[in-house]
Amino acid sequence: AAPAPAGEKQVVVAAPRGYCAGVDRAVITVEKALEAYGAPVYVRKQIVHNRHVVEDLAARGAVFVEELDEVPPGSTVVFSAHGVSPAVKAEAVERGLQAIDATCPLVTKVHHEARRFAREDREILLIGHAGHEEVEGTMGEAPERTTLVQSPADVDTLEVKDPSRLAWLSQTTLSVDETLETVGRLRERFPQLLDPPSDDICYATTNRQAAVKQIAAHSDLVIVVGSANSSNSVRLVEVALEAGAKAAHRVDNAGEVDLAWFDGVASVGVTSGASVPDNLVRGVLDLLVERGYPTAREEKLTEESLVFALPPELRRGLKRSV
Ligand code: SF4
Repeated sequence: AAPAPAGEKQVVVAAPRGYCAGVDRAVITVEKALEAYGAPVYVRKQIVHNRHVVEDLAARGAVFVEELDEVPPGSTVVFSAHGVSPAVKAEAVERGLQAIDATCPLVTKVHHEARRFAREDREILLIGHAGHEEVEGTMGEAPERTTLVQSPADVDTLEVKDPSRLAWLSQTTLSVDETLETVGRLRERFPQLLDPPSDDICYATTNRQAAVKQIAAHSDLVIVVGSANSSNSVRLVEVALEAGAKAAHRVDNAGEVDLAWFDGVASVGVTSGASVPDNLVRGVLDLLVERGYPTAREEKLTEESLVFALPPELRRGLKRSV
């Protein structure tokens, strides 16, 4: 749709936005585990990186822990959508925990690729952010042969053992454009670099970045709903600015919107990260209406229809509890 004439107020909400198939599955996994086994159900790390989702599940009996030594033996524990290293899975077995693995299947795919490259005696260059849970889990598949590459600039100082045995992988929620740049630089330095069999940046990350790009170019202000530790939400702010938004801010909810951002602003774009329930976006759209902006128009880039089956160990538990 054409942007409104300059100076005329408008609000455009991007689609796709919000929940992806992996987040939906992870949240339902905790809900169903609570139904099947009763509270408390332990969850290692935030099930998805959204403060509101975590608070809601905690109120219903989920207990979030950082590490498995906080979980009493014999309890049920859910692994988060970001995935865990083999060492964490082994620890759960050792401690006699009943583990339900809510790792997104698209993260599991990257773990499989890491294991295969390791079996082929390759050194893995993992593009991602230090300290992110997904990166910790993926690196744990082959820690002795994985090196983290955090940015295109990192490539220049990389030291590798054998340039003829390199392969790259990436975190699923990175900036598509920046990752292309990093891979381009890697290939310049290491022409024999092997690609993963398919993209590691997932469909949801790719679609949300493409959708925000489309609205950013004609937005004075872009508001991204998502939590500070949500990698894909933080990337959406960066992508919006690179795509031409005059300003872009991330908020957890409408309460965090600073009204000063609206000074002199006619066109507002709104989107949300893959871990964000849509009622939080509606809160921001309602606030905009209160501040004199018109009802939002949605600009849809593409349909998403992917749905993942629940973890098999949970499906077995649900059958037993019927
Ligand atoms: Fe899976 Fe992508 Fe969603 Fe992460 S953002 S949970 S990889 S679909």
